[in-house]
Amino acid sequence: MNDKLRVAHDKLQSAVAEIVSGDEWKRMLSVAAKFHNYSFNNQLMIFLQRPDATVVAGFNRWKSLDRFVKKGEKGLAIFAPCKYKTKIEDDSGDEKTFQQLRGFRVVHVFDISQTEGAELPDLDAVRPKLLDGDAPVGIWDALASHAASVGFEVVRDRKGAENGYCDFLNKKIAVRPDVAPAQAVKTLIHELGHALLHSEGPVASREVAETEVESVAFVVCDAIGLDTGNYSFPYVARWAGGSEDLIKDTAGRVIECAKSILGSLVLVSEDDEEMDKAS
Ligand SMILES: [Zn+2]
Repeated sequence: MNDKLRVAHDKLQSAVAEIVSGDEWKRMLSVAAKFHNYSFNNQLMIFLQRPDATVVAGFNRWKSLDRFVKKGEKGLAIFAPCKYKTKIEDDSGDEKTFQQLRGFRVVHVFDISQTEGAELPDLDAVRPKLLDGDAPVGIWDALASHAASVGFEVVRDRKGAENGYCDFLNKKIAVRPDVAPAQAVKTLIHELGHALLHSEGPVASREVAETEVESVAFVVCDAIGLDTGNYSFPYVARWAGGSEDLIKDTAGRVIECAKSILGSLVLVSEDDEEMDKAS
């Protein structure tokens, strides 16, 4: 089984390498560089003022992307840190400049829907696409019983924009209810991957964690005849930050985890066969 899983992981690696060497990836990076990662508090403030906001930036940021705030649009208030530069002399008499946080001031940003002008670059190839279509018969139940065997209950639920979540505290795995069976199964494997790999505490970073579990999802789905590339390749490319090394470095853990999930699936189908024979 290892060889097959290794081949699937190689497929993932080269697909990601292809994405991150393409023009759309470069365009994505140049656009992403223009948008801030807002703090949680500011994301909350944006959400409260405009729940459907998708891409948010300041007036001048939009201008640099050849988009302009429409007349009459009201900005969304967020807090921006005020930093001051201070010069301090150290022991050896050298002057050093420090940035000091001296509080916050209110600034205004605008959602893309409040602006008009040049289209943002089409970034389809670097955006995960929800999967369509059916999943192999019986796979959902088999995965759910594997989750149960490690103490996790599987439910259909949605929180915010995510396709699923793994609640370590309440030992619950959730998959949003409004997606096609293929997407639901892939998300279930992704969250099961979190439960199996990350229950003992966080790995190095969210980037590593997401790269690992979506790789697991791709490798397991490949083995059961479900092609999740349209979703998994861009997802892994983004979370790995385009780093092929990160994908390679996690391969060992990914394949071990995929093997344990697939192992439990084989057992379930053998049980079924026995039951078939018995009846
Ligand atoms: Zn995740």
